[in-house]
Amino acid sequence: MTMKPTAARAPKVGFVSLGCPKALVDSERIITRLRSEGYQIAPDYDGADVVVVNTCGFLDSAKAESLDAIGEAIAKNGRVIVTGCMGVEEGRIRAEHPGVLAVTGPHQYEQVVTAVHDAVPPLHDPFLDLVPPEGLHLTPRHYAYLKISEGCNNRCSFCIIPSLRGDLASRPVNHVMTEAERLVKAGVKELLVISQDTSAYGLDIKYAESQWKGQPLKARFLDLCNALGDLGAWIRLHYVYPYPHVDDVIPLMAEGKILPYLDIPFQHASPAVLKAMRRPAHQEKTAARIAAWRKICPDLAIRSTFIVGFPGETEDDFQFLLQWLKEARINRAGCFKYEPVEGAVANALPGAVPEEVKEERWHRFMAAQQDISIELLREKVGRTIPVLIDEIDEEGAIGRSQWDAPEIDGAVYLDGETELTPGQIVQARIIDSDDTDLTAELA
Ligand code: SF4
Repeated sequence: MTMKPTAARAPKVGFVSLGCPKALVDSERIITRLRSEGYQIAPDYDGADVVVVNTCGFLDSAKAESLDAIGEAIAKNGRVIVTGCMGVEEGRIRAEHPGVLAVTGPHQYEQVVTAVHDAVPPLHDPFLDLVPPEGLHLTPRHYAYLKISEGCNNRCSFCIIPSLRGDLASRPVNHVMTEAERLVKAGVKELLVISQDTSAYGLDIKYAESQWKGQPLKARFLDLCNALGDLGAWIRLHYVYPYPHVDDVIPLMAEGKILPYLDIPFQHASPAVLKAMRRPAHQEKTAARIAAWRKICPDLAIRSTFIVGFPGETEDDFQFLLQWLKEARINRAGCFKYEPVEGAVANALPGAVPEEVKEERWHRFMAAQQDISIELLREKVGRTIPVLIDEIDEEGAIGRSQWDAPEIDGAVYLDGETELTPGQIVQARIIDSDDTDLTAELA
């Protein structure tokens, strides 16, 4: 039997959060709950009574990283609880790290909290560690992720997320709005709307209506965007699939109600590859559709991710993708070399692409994307735009335009502006550009 430490002081929990923004939101929820119970969050392994590792299980490389993180936490602290996507593989985790105290799966908040209680009981002091009403966030104070649903109804052949996280489960729209409003009241200037499939929001709950500010509001993508747009913060949409009704939100972007930004994970453009990938809403005319969106909202920035070297991808398919990329003028793109994920049906597809071909295509893709990015950013020089300041260093302020999401896109450098503060929105004139970033001066 292992002794539970009895804490005369507030017990401390260490937290390691791996994976995507959705996992980050899960971590924030767990931390918020623990803080509300009087736990403190330890900044390092040494000061923690127990360490929670929120794992990612999306790719084999992510699983390896998760197993390493668990190993490190055990070596440095010894008392470790595992949660997150990789938690569904408890046997594998325990085989490699038999010392873990508990293993729970993705969004099993209650089980994680119970495991923490078992490992180190909470101190009961109602005056201790009061949590701010907006909850606790791992992002800087001026932006926050807003998760609108869990799970996914699609079955893309390379992805195991639906088997890890289940089918689409949308949050009631008044819950989403309450959280969003609380965040904005607490000083958040930018809300990043996330889920596995943002434009499918509400489908599972039949667009259920709830009351918001004394009015009925439907759990529908467009209605949600409209309502969020009234909060006075930057609203950025991530993980949007190009279903036909996405056309409806473009006018909101043109009006300035939500940011002129769409993160659409296209993954490919060749119809044959998209079919093999079983992508939702894939259609051959997306480049024409993007052009039509830009007619309504000329400032629209599109960020996307792509996979090269998917089984069966021919040189012609790849050329098609490059051509499409140029035609669609995708502003920002990440590219992954296809990696088989254990349990994904794509692994059984014929036509595996050799590693050196994947590598070579990846380089060609990145070079093509860089040319597009240079051209699109150069077109911005001379314009005056709002810039949200993220950080200040000794050389000046570093911010972002409305076309740039935190962490994944570019920055706007305001040299010499050391007096600005993070979270401030300033007007700035763009004076220079390169392949990813802009340089500007206060207007
Ligand atoms: S849309 Fe496809 S890639 Fe995205 S989570 Fe669902 S199944 Fe996975």
